[in-house]
Amino acid sequence: MGFALARAALSRGADVTIVAGSTSAPPPAGGNLIRVESAEEMYSAVMQEVAGSTVFVGAAAVADYRPKNKAATKIKKKDLEEMILELERTPDILAAVSAGRRNGQIVAGFAAETTNILEYAKEKLDKKGLDLVVANDITKPGAGFDTDTNIATIITKGSNDPEELPLMSKLELADRILDRIVGIRNESK
Ligand code: C5P
Repeated sequence: MGFALARAALSRGADVTIVAGSTSAPPPAGGNLIRVESAEEMYSAVMQEVAGSTVFVGAAAVADYRPKNKAATKIKKKDLEEMILELERTPDILAAVSAGRRNGQIVAGFAAETTNILEYAKEKLDKKGLDLVVANDITKPGAGFDTDTNIATIITKGSNDPEELPLMSKLELADRILDRIVGIRNESK
């Protein structure tokens, strides 16, 4: 979905920087592509790049937790039947971008959910201070991960009128999202 957004923005003539984690999907040509492997690396790369941007869209499915301790050497098997790994929270990149935004910068995110889709998505919009959130029911066939299509509802700040979209290609959805972002930009002029 992130690559589709980048592709759509590039074809509108935008300068695009893509910070991407591990994925087998092919990135679009023409953007400034920065590859990262961990949530921490993604956070650092985004924070370094975001200052000069007018629009930030957080589309990555970032891991919420990471192992607390890293072993420098092999962890030897013991006589225990279970092993418990301690996890800690990763930084919330989208929330951090939103908190540090400059005037006029538009910040959009995704909410991939399995239950109470709109309610959770609206919560995310408020909690992370977003201008727009794209809600996905990832239990629906043709939506979410590992497919070229998506089914989404777009919710914008201060609007009680979610735009429910039918199944469409990720590129088409990307264009619908960009149309809404352009709308927000024009309203704030
Ligand atoms: O909080 P939740 O993970 O459900 O929110 C999803 C949105 O937040 C997505 O836009 C995702 O890219 C972003 N996110 C992030 N950093 C995290 C977790 C999620 O930027 N650590």
